[in-house]
Amino acid sequence: MPLTLSDILAARQVIHGVADATPFVPSPFMTAQAGQEVLLKLENMQPIGAFKLRGAMNAVMALPGDAPGVTCCSTGNHGRGVAYAAARRGLRAVICMSALVPQAKVDGIRALGAEVRICGTSQDEAQQECLRLVAAEGLVEISPFDDARVIAGQGTIGLEMMAARPDLDMILVPLSGGGLAAGVALAAKSVNPGVRVIGITMDRGAAMHLSLAAGHPVEVDEVPSLADSLGGGIGLENRLSFALCRAHLDGTVLVSEEEIRDAMQVLFYEDRIVAEGGSVVGQAAMLAGKLPAPKGPVGTIVTGRNLDMALFHRLMAGEDVTLGDLVLKGKRYGA
Ligand SMILES: *Cc1c(COP(=O)(O)O)cnc(C)c1O
Repeated sequence: MPLTLSDILAARQVIHGVADATPFVPSPFMTAQAGQEVLLKLENMQPIGAFKLRGAMNAVMALPGDAPGVTCCSTGNHGRGVAYAAARRGLRAVICMSALVPQAKVDGIRALGAEVRICGTSQDEAQQECLRLVAAEGLVEISPFDDARVIAGQGTIGLEMMAARPDLDMILVPLSGGGLAAGVALAAKSVNPGVRVIGITMDRGAAMHLSLAAGHPVEVDEVPSLADSLGGGIGLENRLSFALCRAHLDGTVLVSEEEIRDAMQVLFYEDRIVAEGGSVVGQAAMLAGKLPAPKGPVGTIVTGRNLDMALFHRLMAGEDVTLGDLVLKGKRYGA
């Protein structure tokens, strides 16, 4: 395997004091629902509002001091992590994103001093611009999920969860390109091979889920979703994250836009936490009864909080929202 526990232990040293160890707290409401203890790993508390700082920091710190700068494609949070890490090192950062990325995420990246390129309506188009910048300007590309240092950085979450609760039976991981799931599964299973790690994603454009089912990376259509952070393909030339997810994940589960909205409401009204759609899919799957029965404590990763607050207000108030060709009928919490 190209990646081992020692890479993740090394990443923990690199990110120490920057991408902070986050709280891992019980959810009394979810615990009552599940009949087993449910704990939330609050990566929404990171300085950039998402876990992606861990992997980005680990990758950027490894670059030589005379690197001409960095570039990446991103659904928003990786770009923010790279921008933050590059600024700390005084490096130029150019972040390539599709027009599907919410404005709140674009603004957050610009505020960190990075240059932003909006290219087309898919991750693939953003990726093309990224490759062009590498060829034309010598910038170093940092993949959001298919990079050993990025995966090792994300894996530090698994170390923290298992250190706090070695008795975890199941870990729920929001799944897109699979860097987070690969790192967390590798780390957690190094501590306890019996822990089950389940990847969860939205049912519209589930790239890793469909690729695992097909046995090779496949392309997906990208459509607007409440889980915008989980959009995009895994790359037909995927080198690391696909093989690692295939080797270490115990299953994948899909959730609908309604189920994501319901979980965002639960997190807000019961746990009093503001979280983006892509970060609550673990709770969504649990609430929808789509998971295998837990035999012990369950840990779910609340991956980020970077969402459009006007949209959040509408969802919490129970108003209708439009996602591309889908109108998500509003529902008041508890009604
Ligand atoms: C990137 C991201 C994920 C998924 O991570 P992958 O490594 O791409 O699978 C989940 N949640 C949020 C909030 C993200 O930004």
